[in-house]
Amino acid sequence: MMRIGVDIGGQHTRIALVQRARIVDQQRFPTPQEYPALLDTLTAAIDGLREEHPVTAVGLGLPGRFDPDTHVVQRALNLPFLEGHTPDEDLANRLRLPVALASDVGAAAVGQHAALPGAPHRFLYLSLGTGVGGALVVAGKLQDLSTDGPAHFGHVIVDTAEDAPACACGARGCLEACVRGPALSDPARRAVAGLRLGLGVLQLVHLLRAQVVMLGGGVLDHDPNLLDEVRAMWTPPPTTLIPAGFEIRGPALATDQAGVLGAATLAGA
Ligand SMILES: [Zn+2]
Repeated sequence: MMRIGVDIGGQHTRIALVQRARIVDQQRFPTPQEYPALLDTLTAAIDGLREEHPVTAVGLGLPGRFDPDTHVVQRALNLPFLEGHTPDEDLANRLRLPVALASDVGAAAVGQHAALPGAPHRFLYLSLGTGVGGALVVAGKLQDLSTDGPAHFGHVIVDTAEDAPACACGARGCLEACVRGPALSDPARRAVAGLRLGLGVLQLVHLLRAQVVMLGGGVLDHDPNLLDEVRAMWTPPPTTLIPAGFEIRGPALATDQAGVLGAATLAGA
């Protein structure tokens, strides 16, 4: 039995053929910048793989938020043409296969969780890139923390100074504003990024009781010292309220594999 994981990015899309949590074959191509062309390209690539392999389901991760009930894409800043559409349903109609839908961060969280030895019961994944997103996995299941989709993990406030960086959400001092990739090119911001990120993790651990917090995404790929700085802030732990066996760790999978593997895992859920 084989599944296909699709990770739609603002620039590139990855498609992986997955068997027993391993990538058997994968493709990467520029993301078409209009909706019918995207569906055409995905359908052709997936049908090509099905000619040679018995594919039973497809999982789709996309960079945006969607209504958890109707799956209508509500917000996709990098691919606004997705808004108002239900890409999982449209793709399922073309392929005549079941198609699961998740956010790109949600799919990556599922992939990273599945790759961890011991699969922690409560697992928080934070992805640091041009923005900061997160997803919570409990007992192996991706959680929706509110009625309109995943929580806004990147917008806990971690800097209350008057000159705290402004965030796209309208607030100042959000975790995202402090540790997103573009902010870290400023040496003064970079100098305190480990502390800010550690504070963000602290707020989220208190709220979500995660046993493992994993930090991943493009920022960590380019700047792995950030992980050590967060760990240093947590040694000794800044609170007596952390769950037993708590751990902050780096990615178990490369960023470009976590999304497709997680999407394929969700396709079987
Ligand atoms: Zn914000």
